[in-house]
Amino acid sequence: MRRWNGWGDASIRMELPPEGLALLQQHIGDGRICPDYPLDKFLERIPATRLPQHPLVIDAPRQRLECAHGQSLPDWIRLRGGTLKHFPDGVAQPSNVEDLRTILNYAGDNNTVVIPYGGGTSVAGHLAVCESERPVLSVAMQRLNRLIDIDGPNLLATFEAGIRGPDLEKQLNAKGFTLGHFPQSFEYSTLGGWVATRSSGQQSRHYGRIEQLYAGGEVATFKGQLKLPPFPASAAGPDIRQLVLGSEGRMGILSRVIVNILPLPEVNDIHGVFFPSWDSACKAVQALAQSQISLSMIRLSNPSETTANLMLAGSAQQVTWLKRFLRFRGIDPDLACMGLIGYIGTARQARVARSEAGSIIRRFKGVSAGKQIGDAWKKNRFRSAYLRNTLWELGYAVDTLETAVNWDKVTETMNRVENALAQALESVNERILTFSHLSHVYANGSSIYTTFVFRLADSPQKTLDHWRKLKQAASRAIVEAGGTISHHHGIGRDHLPYLEAEKGAVGINTLRQMFAYLDPNRQMNPGKLLP
Ligand SMILES: Cc1cc2nc3c(=O)[nH]c(=O)nc-3n(C[C@H](O)[C@H](O)[C@H](O)COP(=O)(O)OP(=O)(O)OC[C@H]3O[C@@H](n4cnc5c(N)ncnc54)[C@H](O)[C@@H]3O)c2cc1C
Repeated sequence: MRRWNGWGDASIRMELPPEGLALLQQHIGDGRICPDYPLDKFLERIPATRLPQHPLVIDAPRQRLECAHGQSLPDWIRLRGGTLKHFPDGVAQPSNVEDLRTILNYAGDNNTVVIPYGGGTSVAGHLAVCESERPVLSVAMQRLNRLIDIDGPNLLATFEAGIRGPDLEKQLNAKGFTLGHFPQSFEYSTLGGWVATRSSGQQSRHYGRIEQLYAGGEVATFKGQLKLPPFPASAAGPDIRQLVLGSEGRMGILSRVIVNILPLPEVNDIHGVFFPSWDSACKAVQALAQSQISLSMIRLSNPSETTANLMLAGSAQQVTWLKRFLRFRGIDPDLACMGLIGYIGTARQARVARSEAGSIIRRFKGVSAGKQIGDAWKKNRFRSAYLRNTLWELGYAVDTLETAVNWDKVTETMNRVENALAQALESVNERILTFSHLSHVYANGSSIYTTFVFRLADSPQKTLDHWRKLKQAASRAIVEAGGTISHHHGIGRDHLPYLEAEKGAVGINTLRQMFAYLDPNRQMNPGKLLP
C-alpha cells in the first residue's frame, strides 16, 4: 500500500548504514526528530465540499487529502507537520475518454478549477491546491490506464495517459518491446505526467527524453479534443506536440498518448568507473558525450557525491574493499569521482561501445570497476528514493535541484549552486550537506543534479522557511550562471518565479495567450507554470 505521508510503498524500508548516519552528524549535526501529524486528525480537518454531487466525483476526505499534494519538499513539510491547508473539493476518477469530457463539462458548468493528477510524484509543487474562491476538482487518472495498441511494424504504442511506469513496461516487454523511460519515480509516475512535465529517464542517452518518445495522442480541452497524429516528421508549421510537452495541466488533460517504442535490447549493462579528479572525470564525460559511441547512460558523481553514495548506501565491507582497490590503482578515495556508463544493444554493439568508451576513459586516467557496481546501482535504482523516508525519521530533510548548462559552464555552475546552498542557512547556524552529479549529458552540455540535506527545525514553519532560503539561493545561482531553472522536474509552483528570466516577457506572453485560448476562464491548474 502506498504511504500516505512519504515516498513509496509503506512496506519498503531502506536502512541507513551507521557510516551514513556518521557522515550526516559530522556535516550537519544531530538530526532533529519531529513527530508526524496523524492521518485521522488531517481527515477530520478537511472541510465540506463546495461541489455539487456528481456520479464521477468523490468527496471522501482520504482521496481529497491524497490529491492535495505531490512529493516536493514543501509538500512533505506541510503533510508531515500537519500544516497543509488547502484540499481539492472533490476527486474525479474517469474511466474513459467520454468521462473526461463529462468532467470538463461539469467543471465548466460549476466554474471549477481542475488539477489533473497523474502519479502524484511531482517535486515542483505542480499539484498543490492554491487558495481559491472557486471549488477545486482533482482529476485522478489512475483508471485511465489501458494499453490501446502496440503497432510493432511502426514501432508505436498507444496507452491511456494514467498508466504507471511498471504496468506500461510490463505490457510492452511481454511483446518484446520497451519504451525505455525510467525516471527514478518509475514505480508511481504516469505516462501523462511524464509528457506534462517533460520528464527524463535514467537511460535517456539511448532512448531519448520524453520529448523524443512522445509521438502524439489526444488532449481533452475546454475547446474540444486536440488530436495529434504520430507523423514521423512534418514541416506543417510549428509542432503542437511541443506545446503539450511541459504543459503541466494548464492546457487540458492528456487522455491518450502514442509513444515511440523499441525492441528489447539483448544487452543492457551498466559498468562502474572511477576517475582521480573532477577535472579529468568531467573532460572524459564530455568526450564520451561528444563521441558517436552508443551508450545508454553516462552519469558522473563529484567527489562529495561519490563519498556520500558509498556511505549512505554501501556496506562497510564494500567501502573498505573499494578504497583499497582505488589506492592500489593510484586514486585518492577522497578525490575519486564515480561514473556509471551504460552499454546497450546487441552483444556486438555493446562490446564495440565498451572498447571505444574504454579508450576514452583510460585517456583521462579513469579505471574500470566492472559490472558489479553497475548491477548494485540497477538493483537500487528506484529504491534509493526510500532513503528520504529514513532520513526524515532521523531528523533530516533531503531535496534535489537540477539545471542544464553548456559544457564551458558545468563546473562553475555546479560549484556556485553548492556554495549558495552551503551558505544559505549560515545566519541561523545550520549546516548543509550538498553533493552533485551529471546525469544527462549532451554534445553541447550537461544536466547538473544537486542533492542537499539539512536538519529539520523545531517547527514545520521554520523548516519551510529554511527550505525557502535554500531553494531561493540555489535558484538564483542557477539563473545567474545562465542555466535552465529545470532540466526535467518542470516548473509547477516552486520554479515559477524564475521562468521569466529564461523565456523573456515575449515568450511568457506567447504561452499565456495560448493557454487563454484553450482555457478562457483560467480553470486548468492555475498558479502553476505561468504566473
Ligand atoms: C523520488 C522521485 C524521483 C524522481 N525522479 C525523476 C526522474 O528521474 N526524472 C524525471 O523526469 N522526474 C523525476 N521525478 C519527478 C516526477 O516523477 C516527474 O515530474 C513525473 O513526470 C511526474 O509524473 P506524475 O504522473 O507523477 O505526475 P503528477 O505529479 O501527478 O503531475 C505532474 C504535473 O503533470 C500534470 N499531469 C499529470 N497527468 C496529466 C495528464 N494526464 N494530463 C495533463 N496533465 C497531467 C499535473 O497536473 C501536474 O501539473 C521524481 C520524483 C520523485 C518523487
